[in-house]
Amino acid sequence: MHEMSIAQNLLDLIGERLSQLEMGSAKVKVVRMRIGEMAGVLPDSLRFCFGVASEGTPAEGAELVIDQVPIKCRCHNCKAEFSVEAYAFICPNCGSPETDLLSGNELDVIELELDG
Ligand SMILES: [Zn+2]
Repeated sequence: MHEMSIAQNLLDLIGERLSQLEMGSAKVKVVRMRIGEMAGVLPDSLRFCFGVASEGTPAEGAELVIDQVPIKCRCHNCKAEFSVEAYAFICPNCGSPETDLLSGNELDVIELELDG
């Protein structure tokens, strides 16, 4: 399952951050993430997988807060920036299909809130 491997990576990342902070014994209360709409992650599914995968780790019982990042593009032709809906990567200004992705691919941990 896609979300299960993401949850596993997330826990590895959290473990690394805790050891960098020399807080290996701290409990994680909240994990705040940014997930782009293009990343193809279902937040509910990720929350569920994270809950299962985090059992017995410092992140057990942590709340996963997910900020969803909309897909944004910039047109190559006229440089207009626009939000993409329904995966229509076509400039609404000039109709060009040649666009650069500005955001929407994120899968980042922004912040960990620790207990103790
Ligand atoms: Zn354009």
